[in-house]
Amino acid sequence: MKPAYCVPVLMYHHVSPSAGMITTSPRNFERQIAGLARAGYHALTADAFAGFLAGEPVPDKSLLITFDDGYLDNYVYAHPVLQRYGMHGIIFLITGLIGDGPARPFNGQGGQLPATPEHRQAKALLAAGATDSVMLRWSEVKAMREAGTFEFHSHTHTHTRWDLENIPRDQCLARMTQEFADSRAALTRHLGSVSAHFCWPQGHFDADYVRLAKQAGFEYLYTTIAHGQNLAGGDPACIYRFAVRNRGFPWLRQRAWLASHPVIGPLYNRWKSWKRARRAS
Ligand SMILES: [Zn+2]
Repeated sequence: MKPAYCVPVLMYHHVSPSAGMITTSPRNFERQIAGLARAGYHALTADAFAGFLAGEPVPDKSLLITFDDGYLDNYVYAHPVLQRYGMHGIIFLITGLIGDGPARPFNGQGGQLPATPEHRQAKALLAAGATDSVMLRWSEVKAMREAGTFEFHSHTHTHTRWDLENIPRDQCLARMTQEFADSRAALTRHLGSVSAHFCWPQGHFDADYVRLAKQAGFEYLYTTIAHGQNLAGGDPACIYRFAVRNRGFPWLRQRAWLASHPVIGPLYNRWKSWKRARRAS
């Protein structure tokens, strides 16, 4: 087996026919997953990825497919595609927004599919308290876990950016500590266990947040920093991810290649970081 040098981590939010921001169409998602499967990519479990960071080899062309938040559309449209191609993903759940009730139909299963609102509309519905029309239910989470299409980890309990609330710093840190504890309790209550993998809301973190996350039992911290490489021996508290665009497989193959190439990858990342810094200044 040729071992992987670098494991790219893909970041998705919505897979839905309702076009909008951070949304991949079901057609493009199927193209991407089918392409990955055909090209011999291995979609790792979080455990295997953790092992890779600690120095255990994984096959070349390994990657990690991650989804943030836990939208209903992940079950309706992404789950059946992963099942069809034998691929595996992980979802970071906002545990306080996951509902109760029976599992709804997913695409290809027969039955009337639930509406899957686009991102802005989803945010408005959440603000209005219509959580169940936007987010997953625990029954759906369990169905995906049993099917082996997705595994589930913490993305806090409420997804609140406490650093942006008008509260003193010590209260902000106390609130984050509570987020860690509440999400761990919810995952344990509904799924029987909780992992050491955690994803920052809107990618925001600082040194205090990292310290508190580690104290709460989280070791693998997923960022939205795209321009870095996940290598064996790399820092598990800073896992790089890139956002997958609503494009076909050739785009994804090229992006994954750029992310993981031992020479071109770091050059590309430096160039993109330089461009970003120049735009910001
Ligand atoms: Zn999020």
